[in-house]
Amino acid sequence: MQNSPLLSRPVVISGPCSAETREQVINTARALKGRLNYFRAGLWKPRTRPNAFEGVGSKGLPWLVEVQKSVGIPVMTEIANAQHAELAIKYGLDAVWIGARTTVSPFAVQTIADALRGSGITVLVKNPMHADLKLWMGAIERVQEATKGEVWALHRGFSSYGLQKFRNAPMWEIPIGLKAEMPDIQLFCDPSHICGNRELLQSISQKAMDLGMTGLMIESHENPAVALSDSDQQVSPQDLVKLLDKLNIRDLTLDETHITDLRDLRIKMDSIDEQLVELLSGRMGISKAIGEYKKENGLTVLQLSRWREIIKTRKVWSEEMGLPEEFLRGILEQVHKESIRIQSEILNSEKK
Ligand code: PEP
Ligand code: MN
Repeated sequence: MQNSPLLSRPVVISGPCSAETREQVINTARALKGRLNYFRAGLWKPRTRPNAFEGVGSKGLPWLVEVQKSVGIPVMTEIANAQHAELAIKYGLDAVWIGARTTVSPFAVQTIADALRGSGITVLVKNPMHADLKLWMGAIERVQEATKGEVWALHRGFSSYGLQKFRNAPMWEIPIGLKAEMPDIQLFCDPSHICGNRELLQSISQKAMDLGMTGLMIESHENPAVALSDSDQQVSPQDLVKLLDKLNIRDLTLDETHITDLRDLRIKMDSIDEQLVELLSGRMGISKAIGEYKKENGLTVLQLSRWREIIKTRKVWSEEMGLPEEFLRGILEQVHKESIRIQSEILNSEKK
């Protein structure tokens, strides 16, 4: 099967969390026609606890084929095992995605990759539940090695315990890290599973676009209030169109003029970064000297009162300089971690 060509950013994937009935699938697809590159609907639903709605299963495959053939939108669903993979190929679906709960297991991913071997079907690999970049890359590599088709990455955030602003923390540094390691990968964002509610979808979708991501997967339902899964985060087709219309899509690359315009500022930035590196190196040198002293005098590495004093004074300094407290605290924690590593190494080195 021919892969659909990538159209202009954002490539839009939408449709219900779960296929529920033929009518719901067809109505949602018709309402979205013209605004979508791919229609999504989950048939086999991974649910946290049993006895929740676990999807209609293979009964929904002909509904997706109807969307593909009669409505005229390429279709995709989630696959979680070899049997799902074989069915997706048999029914000629255009794409499949591997869900976050499956990406965590190299065994499961390999089984799916083997079942897709040589098929040419487009595969989206969601990030694993927890923030492990290597595990995500490993899953992508397993699929790339097996299929002849496109393999795309899909960022859906990372699970955390307890009530949080987001259902799954975006941790943007992980998808950015993926792009740095795999520059050719098409990176998509799934704002629905990051947000867990409709209110935050716009800003997360915008952020994904501002980071240069290729496309968005956003769940939509003809009547979100009665959806059998993920009801709080789904939007109506009309609201999806509004969201897409509001997005500001900025250019990915700089032209010659931009490069010239930014040259001076970039030179200044380079010079500041160079000074930062020199300063950090100097600070670690002092850490070393303090480490030697602690070793000689039988003192522990961690001196809590000193650490608290550091946080307190630097907080005042950052306020004075107009830097957000959280930002400076993050940097200080990294610096302190490295200091502790250096001093622990000194304290535990063999006596000469
Ligand atoms: C989904 O896309 O409906 C889904 C279950 O996603 P995830 O694997 O990201 O939880
Ligand atoms: Mn869902």
